Amino acid sequence: MTERRVLITGIAGQDGAYLARLLLRQGATVFGAARATSNLWRLKALDIRDRLHFLPFDLSDPDTFDACLKAANPTEIYNLAAVSSLGDSEAEAERTRLLNYQGPLELIQRALDHNPEVRIFQASSALVFGRASEAPQTELTPRAPDTAYGEAKLALDEALEAFRLGGAFAVSGILFNHESPLRAEHFVSQKIMMGLAALARGAEQPIELRAFDHVRDWSHAEDFVRAMTMSLQLSEPASWVFASGEAHTVRDWLALAAPVFGFEPEYRIDGDREVSVCRRSGRVLAIAGHGEPFAEPGTPRIGSAKAFKAASGWVPNYGFSDLVEDMATAAKAR
Ligand code: NAP
Repeated sequence: MTERRVLITGIAGQDGAYLARLLLRQGATVFGAARATSNLWRLKALDIRDRLHFLPFDLSDPDTFDACLKAANPTEIYNLAAVSSLGDSEAEAERTRLLNYQGPLELIQRALDHNPEVRIFQASSALVFGRASEAPQTELTPRAPDTAYGEAKLALDEALEAFRLGGAFAVSGILFNHESPLRAEHFVSQKIMMGLAALARGAEQPIELRAFDHVRDWSHAEDFVRAMTMSLQLSEPASWVFASGEAHTVRDWLALAAPVFGFEPEYRIDGDREVSVCRRSGRVLAIAGHGEPFAEPGTPRIGSAKAFKAASGWVPNYGFSDLVEDMATAAKAR
């Protein structure tokens, strides 16, 4: 049997860490392409840091690509490195285009030059749909990105489509939101967990959120990295939507997570703000905007993974309440 040699960019990120652990469990040799400055806390938390082969890499520096490809000589590549936060990407549109489009495109081109048989997974995003014309969004939903992040991911999806037409095994995973105890703290799910944990320890500062009724489609990152590996074992490459298909709100996160920390949230309107208060203790848990300026217009960002499930047999292990419980339990134990 040929050795399975896997190169993961963004290995120090949420998805990279879970993916690396899964691939090690599957018996692969795992190479992590990472910046010298990457913080490896997630890899240490999963206790896999010492089983990985690290290679110096920066998406903004194509000079690092060939050395990585030569050293790893990969049979599979997962390009997860990116500007992954929408906030950052809007502030720095040019850098977003460089890191979420130009850099990955150059990497994929060089990888295919190095080995035309290599199987490539590229992390795309639900933001390619922008203000979608339909819900749930599928592989066939028209793309209409309205952010620099979504535009860059779409441009790369289109490049991958061209590579596929040329015979390459290049997959785009159109990823809806996915979270875990390894999620960075500026994303709403983890912000809620860390805020509740701090309040339970006696902090007084309530969690500040944009709105309680924003709707998203949230999954567990462990389910998505398993889907990524399955997508590269199929007979044909394609663009696939990975999603839960369920609509949940920020209020749902609070409803399920707060009791883990001993709080029972109820809500009061206070002018243009809505306040979440613990029914039993009267403590203010969270504050968000209320009314028109905070409502999200248009079709909710909900995906359908029906096509991928039918092609691969993938079934998520975590429902929404399992995801919240996993994150809340981890935050409480920190
Ligand atoms: P993450 O935790 O923020 O990880 C992103 C990784 O990219 C980090 O390891 C970071 O390295 C690396 N990176 C950033 N700039 C780089 C550069 N110039 N050179 C090399 N590496 C660089 O993100 P994630 O949640 O795991 O997401 C993985 C992928 O899925 C990303 O492509 C993201 O856009 C996409 N995605 C994620 C979601 C989601 O809900 N999580 C949804 C849609 C799409 P450092 O450790 O050095 O900072």
